[in-house]
Amino acid sequence: AALYRIDGWGAPYFCVNAAGDIAVRSYGAATVSHQEIDLMKVVKKASDPKAAGGLGLRLPLLVRFPDILKHRLESLHAAFDFAIRSNSYGACYQGVYPVKCNQDRYIVEDIMEFGLPFDFGLEAGSKAELLLAMSCLTRASRKALLICNGFKDEEYIALAVVARRMDMNTVIVLEQAEELDTVVETSQRLGIRPVIGLRAKLRTKHSGHFGATSGEKGKFGLTTAQILSVAQKLQRLQMLDCLQLLHFHIGSQIPSTALLSDGVGEAAQIYCELARLGAAMRVIDVGGGLGIDYDGSRSGGSDMSVGYGLHDYASAVVRAVMFACDRKHVRHPIICSESGRALVSHHSVLIFEAVSSTTTKAEPLSSIGPNFASLLEELADDARSDYHNLRAAAYLGEYETCALYADQLKRTSIDHFKDGMLGLEHLAAVDGLCELVAQELGVADPVKTYHVNLSIFTSMPDFWAIGQLFPIIPIHHLDQRPGVKGILSDLTCDSDGKVDRFIGGQSSLPLHELGRGGVGGGGYYLGMFLGGAYQEALGGLHNLFGGPSVVRVSQSEGPHGFAVTLAAPGPSCADVLRAMQHEPEVMFESLKHRAEECSAGDAVSCAVARAFDSMPYLVHSRADPVCASDGDRTDG
Ligand code: PLP
Repeated sequence: AALYRIDGWGAPYFCVNAAGDIAVRSYGAATVSHQEIDLMKVVKKASDPKAAGGLGLRLPLLVRFPDILKHRLESLHAAFDFAIRSNSYGACYQGVYPVKCNQDRYIVEDIMEFGLPFDFGLEAGSKAELLLAMSCLTRASRKALLICNGFKDEEYIALAVVARRMDMNTVIVLEQAEELDTVVETSQRLGIRPVIGLRAKLRTKHSGHFGATSGEKGKFGLTTAQILSVAQKLQRLQMLDCLQLLHFHIGSQIPSTALLSDGVGEAAQIYCELARLGAAMRVIDVGGGLGIDYDGSRSGGSDMSVGYGLHDYASAVVRAVMFACDRKHVRHPIICSESGRALVSHHSVLIFEAVSSTTTKAEPLSSIGPNFASLLEELADDARSDYHNLRAAAYLGEYETCALYADQLKRTSIDHFKDGMLGLEHLAAVDGLCELVAQELGVADPVKTYHVNLSIFTSMPDFWAIGQLFPIIPIHHLDQRPGVKGILSDLTCDSDGKVDRFIGGQSSLPLHELGRGGVGGGGYYLGMFLGGAYQEALGGLHNLFGGPSVVRVSQSEGPHGFAVTLAAPGPSCADVLRAMQHEPEVMFESLKHRAEECSAGDAVSCAVARAFDSMPYLVHSRADPVCASDGDRTDG
């Protein structure tokens, strides 16, 4: 556990059990005894068709733990509740979930259900997200806020306005000053009074990657002059009572409470000023930014870590709002936050399999055969003299000189090969000799490449796009010290499709030696943790690899302490082709016709049909379900 810093980033949800597997503490229903769930047992149940009740799903596999989601939401609420009570703050906390973090239907529905006692609401950033949010808000949650952010056209605004008629607490947050005219015209046309919020462009700037759009030159929000002009315009229109909320967002992963207090303090001053100007201010919405500790260091020194917990965050927000309002004698507002990352990151784990490993080492000299020395003697003059000098330096024990001549020999030989002066067997002999020298000098690169059944572009897009690191660890054999250093290479034919940076500034990951069929013949499974926010929403279809299979796992009584409450296979090749406007049914018919023309017979058509129906990822024979009936399911 210490090797992978699990206690740092994983607590209190992930730990290592006595079997050496990752165990999940999901904090399920109080009626169920708090048993840890062995992640390997979940993988076995989901993927092994031969296991009792096995579902035969293919990897990669996304395991969702709704109980963790519930625990996160309740912990966030409890942290604000505590800060409010201990500071005698005069209003409540009412959070919203920004659906952009993960729009999965079940996650949004779960959040609505778990948040019902707290009037927890939703935030939408586009028309489609607003439609999604409106469909998830039930009558029971009519007090919950529905914050409408993002760039808006007339249709978006009309939808947000009519939602108020449907008993939904929509607030249209002006992202640009120009949106005001459309809000006024649309609401007058529909005869519905809107509730309006403003997104302020704060001077406080978050310096990390995620703060790139904050500060005076930031992309979003209204400047001081624009805020003033909106308030004056609303006053002229006798609509100042509609202006009720002030919002800001200084970026995700806010590194410290000092920066947070600074931003909230500045926003609270604007809030108080709007109240002074006569707006019916009721809510301060501090946006997202509540960070999580990806590397377990608690340092707050990079985008990978934050130096505070939920309680520190809530306390800093409450105190900063209270301080500004008390000085200006303004009634304490409802505090809203749009925390996404902190809410959903922990609840899902992506499991994938290492299918093979290679080293970048050259083949050993012994594999080149007994005549390697004569091959080296056949090199062109300059290369041959490098070889002789290298040998002489080795006899004298002059190791630095050895390294210099080995380097020179290699470069000269590559040049000769490119010029067509060298045969393959000669270049292989040079590579083998140089590898031997590197090993003897202790400078050989011992890092292995583990090929994993995954697409980085689909499942960890932030790693590729913005260098975000996620904890990645084997989920079993953790009672055995890993003997190999490895990097991970995915299935895409793209050189960016590899993971060669890991938490803690490591350029390789301690891994177990991979033999035939994994480690000890039972496969070798790795997990990517803390990826529940943004990764699914951003992932693309590079090389037409689709999403993983998904299971929802809840704690339950019984021998394993869990139950799979939902299982969905990942998209098939036909599905991903359809997503790019291809027509798998037509494609299949045409390929089948071609097979018939070539008298290729049913076996060919059957293989084509099976390929359309299968997941784009590698189908591992060990976990391969019986496929005789696969053709029945094909829609191609
Ligand atoms: N609110 C707004 C306006 C955002 O742009 C974002 C994302 O960057 C969020 C909320 C969610 O932020 P986080 O995931 O840091 O909580």
